[in-house]
Amino acid sequence: MTDLPPTPRGRALPIFSHRIVAIDGAARAGVMHTAHGAVDTPAFMPVGTAGTVKAMTADAVRATGSAIVLGNTYHLMLRPGAERIARLGGLHRFMDWPSPILTDSGGFQVMSLAKLRKLDIDGVTFQSHLDGSTHRLTPVRSIEIQHQLDATITMVLDECTPFPASPEQAQTSMQLSMRWAEHSREAFVPRQGYALFGIVQGSIYPELREASARALTSIGFDGYAIGGLAIGEGQTTTFAVLDGTLPHLPPDAPRYLMGVGTPDDIIGAVQRGTDMFDCVIPTRAGRTARAYTSRGVFNLRNARFADDTLSLDPDCACPACARHSRAYLHHLFKAEEMLGPMLLTWHNLNYYQALMRDLRAAITVRRLDAFADGVRAGWAREEPT
Ligand SMILES: [Zn+2]
Repeated sequence: MTDLPPTPRGRALPIFSHRIVAIDGAARAGVMHTAHGAVDTPAFMPVGTAGTVKAMTADAVRATGSAIVLGNTYHLMLRPGAERIARLGGLHRFMDWPSPILTDSGGFQVMSLAKLRKLDIDGVTFQSHLDGSTHRLTPVRSIEIQHQLDATITMVLDECTPFPASPEQAQTSMQLSMRWAEHSREAFVPRQGYALFGIVQGSIYPELREASARALTSIGFDGYAIGGLAIGEGQTTTFAVLDGTLPHLPPDAPRYLMGVGTPDDIIGAVQRGTDMFDCVIPTRAGRTARAYTSRGVFNLRNARFADDTLSLDPDCACPACARHSRAYLHHLFKAEEMLGPMLLTWHNLNYYQALMRDLRAAITVRRLDAFADGVRAGWAREEPT
């Protein structure tokens, strides 16, 4: 490893930890301490794919209450390159985000975006979707890239088992991921306040999920992700997998449900004991005129908003809601002005982060189920469009 960003200096770094401060049923509220600051859990991580949360300045992301963002190893290793980001001082400095960053391993995007990918027992060889150049990702190389990026939380390389998969396919795939998890653990360079998370696989099969959780726990990680969900199995199955998996993980370690989800998915997963989430839904929806609000999901392109002088969400304090009407937002999207996606992304992230704050508060006073019922009832106040 040649190019590595400087480790934060000039202050005592905290040891990476997750302290549970309140419990309500299976749900937990906690604080995760890292080298780059603290994160209250349950936490939602906006997706900053290519060193930017699309349509948002770093200040705007901070203003939504986001304490941690996600970066994509696949995109950053191809452009501008992990070595270059390391030379430029690491991803925190590069994207003006001194707070915690979690990077994924790159495996999921290789399987969904790259051309001519070839999986073998040691890793995956693929061609860049940008210029066709050939690259190889192994557990060791993925960990090295995430070190070069200076990720606060590094994810092991795994194989996201496709859905549906037969029990035999799911077992073979899960066992490959567990082998890679061991290689990833060996390759990770421990630094104070930094963390390495393992990823539970096993498709929809409870015995495979349990075996995967036990294998990871015996290797030992700072946190545990639930992977291979939100890929078409449906919410009922997602929740059943969580119910069958979370009891087999260490009780205090952070639990991260990858790629989930809608506000309703997140509420249900928090009720089951999940601590961390990431999803492109609020940012992607914001760019396509869909708003998540306390009164349901709106499509701002709909003609019914053309003369609507109301605030988008009267319960939201973001700039889109505090300073503009639904009619103005509708106009921005009809006229294809870039301010439309900017304002609606800001609103959606603000809505998600306000929801996370309220969920943490409800857990603290042990009123989570009543709070969740109230939020869901609110979504029915206006007709969906
Ligand atoms: Zn708003």
